[in-house]
Amino acid sequence: MPTGRAEELGAQVISAEEYEDVLNWFYDFQKTTDMQLKATCAPHYHRILRQRAKEDGIPVNFENFGLDAVSRGCLGGVGFCFISHRGQVQPCGYLELDCGNVLETPFPELWRNTQHFRNLRNPEVYEGKCGHCEYERVCGGCRARAQTMKGNYLEEEPLCSYQPKKQPRK
Ligand code: SF4
Repeated sequence: MPTGRAEELGAQVISAEEYEDVLNWFYDFQKTTDMQLKATCAPHYHRILRQRAKEDGIPVNFENFGLDAVSRGCLGGVGFCFISHRGQVQPCGYLELDCGNVLETPFPELWRNTQHFRNLRNPEVYEGKCGHCEYERVCGGCRARAQTMKGNYLEEEPLCSYQPKKQPRK
C-alpha cells in the first residue's frame, strides 16, 4: 500500500495484472488448507472469489468460504475506522481523511454523519469503473490506493484490471 512512509515506494507496487495473478493463486491456495486466510487490503479478491467460485460451481456461502462469503472487500468507514491517541478519526490507517475528532464531537455522531463516511458507504458516488461495477457492493476497491495513486479516494481502484459489464451511470 503506497501510503504514508511507503508513499515514495509507489513505483514498486505490483501491476494490476500481477495483482490478478496473485489473488487467483490465493483462491487456489485457500482450497488446500484449513487455515483461515484473509486477503487484507485486496478488496477485488471478493470479486475474484465470486468469479472463480462460479466457474467451479461452488456456492459462495459461509460453509464454503468462511468470513469471505459474508464480508466485504473494504470495510474502512463501513465496518471500522481508526481513532488516533489524539482523538482524530479517519476511515482506515492508510486513508488519512479528516472525519472529525472524538474530543470535540461524540463518536456516534461522527460515525453516522461525517460526509466521508457517508460517501464510503454509498458506491453510487464512486467514480470511474468502480462506480458502475457489478461487484461494487462486495468489493468497492481500495479507497486509500485511489487517494494516493489517483488523488481522489472516490476514484476507481488503480490496481484492478476488471472491466465492469454494467454501463456507467449517467
Ligand atoms: S472495478 Fe472496482 S468495484 Fe469492480 S472489481 Fe475492480 S476494484 Fe472492485
